This record gives sequence, C-alpha cells and structure tokens, in this order.
Amino acid sequence: MTDSVDKLAQAAGLTRPTLLAIAEQVKANAVKLRACPRHEFAELPGSTPLKARYRCAHCDGEVDAHAYHWYQQGRQHATV
Ligand SMILES: [Zn+2]
Repeated sequence: MTDSVDKLAQAAGLTRPTLLAIAEQVKANAVKLRACPRHEFAELPGSTPLKARYRCAHCDGEVDAHAYHWYQQGRQHATV
C-alpha cells in the first residue's frame, strides 16, 4: 500500500526510511529551538554564502541563513 510518505519520498528521490529519518531530525531540531530562551547563533564551518547554516550555542538547534537573518534583525529591533 502506498501512502503520502511514499509519494513524497519518491518525488524527492529518497527512500522511505531516509525521508522518515529526515522528518525526525527536523522535529527534534524544532523542539530544541522552541525550548531555548535566547539563541546565540554561530555560523557552521563549511557554510557558503548561498547555503549558510547556524547553530545555537545554548540549545544546539540549527537554522538556515533566512531564519538567522530575521532572528538577528528581531533582536536588533527589540533593543531600539
Ligand atoms: Zn537556542
């Protein structure tokens, strides 16, 4: 029987177990980020200008460059 997970995995060119593992990683990362009272992000080694990733020193959660940009801007506006 094929379900939506199988269809999504096929569309992404991944196996079902790989897709489910990625989904679990995404959920675990979101739990870490939500529980953190104040992030302190640092750019991860190996990041490129087009594909930068940042990790919080407190919660170990990771975000992409877009999320990092808006989080930093929000902090800056909160202090004005
Ligand atoms: Zn954090």
